[in-house]
Amino acid sequence: MAEDCLFCGIANHEIPSEIIYEDDQICVYKDIAPQAPVHVLMIPKKHIESLDTVTEEDRDLLGYMLFKVKDIVKLAGIENGYRVVSNNGENAQQTVKHIHLHILGNRKFSWPPG
Ligand code: AMP
Ligand code: ZN
Repeated sequence: MAEDCLFCGIANHEIPSEIIYEDDQICVYKDIAPQAPVHVLMIPKKHIESLDTVTEEDRDLLGYMLFKVKDIVKLAGIENGYRVVSNNGENAQQTVKHIHLHILGNRKFSWPPG
């Protein structure tokens, strides 16, 4: 855990959030400012800043996160497709420096993204 990291605080139950799923590796909770009828964030419990800072030892964890998406989609009641987004770095407007997957659903999304 990284001190002063909001998402580590959520994963450790020190900061309140609406967690919908967790296991030994990941935590999934509702985004505080939802951009779709369903908008949850999936984080690794391990503090990793962004996709730029992953190491060889994170390979299985990163694969596990994508592997679990379909279960979370079902659990969250998303139907008819969904979007998975990861903002990394300044141009993508990453605001929290702890890797997270946005999982958004139950509305139609446009392309290209804004
Ligand atoms: P990003 O801009 O990709 O770094 O995404 C950060 C996300 O975290 C945003 O969608 C915020 O709405 C969300 N967020 C910030 N604080 C909290 C919180 N305390 N609980 C849940 N989601 C949060
Ligand atoms: Zn963290």
